[in-house]
Amino acid sequence: MEDCIFCKIVKGEIGSAKIFEDENVFVFLDINPIVKGHCLVVPKKHSEDIFDTDNETLKNVIIVAKDISEKMRNILGSVAVNLVNSSGIEAEQGVSHFHLHILPRYKGDALNMSEWWQSKVLKPTGEELVKIAEEIRVGLN
Ligand code: AMP
Ligand code: ZN
Repeated sequence: MEDCIFCKIVKGEIGSAKIFEDENVFVFLDINPIVKGHCLVVPKKHSEDIFDTDNETLKNVIIVAKDISEKMRNILGSVAVNLVNSSGIEAEQGVSHFHLHILPRYKGDALNMSEWWQSKVLKPTGEELVKIAEEIRVGLN
């Protein structure tokens, strides 16, 4: 992908604050961090989003994300982690190269994920939940 900014970062054509790489995966700090150590795990092979990414690559990404999140607890003193992926325009994906955000979390940090969850507007009844689950279960088969 010639115009992909993350492909350029992986190839070293654009600088980044790299923290790790192996054969398949590249990890660098997000340029607009929302918490200390906020980084992005990207596959070296270009894919647009999670739907476009093969399962082997997804496994590589999540394994590296787990390893780095775990090690950050010792390195940075984080005590928890949020792993976030946005896939697609409606999910507000900003860069069209699949990536997983690692957001190390600290006791008393300023991030507030619950604000995000509280923006839920559907408020379904229990019956509606059961119906939606049924619809998805049937569709999966
Ligand atoms: P998303 O909204 O999930 O697509 O996130 C894209 C992320 O990429 C944002 O958090 C940006 O701050 C980050 N980003 C964009 N360009 C760069 C760059 N050149 N180096 C590091 N992070 C970047
Ligand atoms: Zn790319």
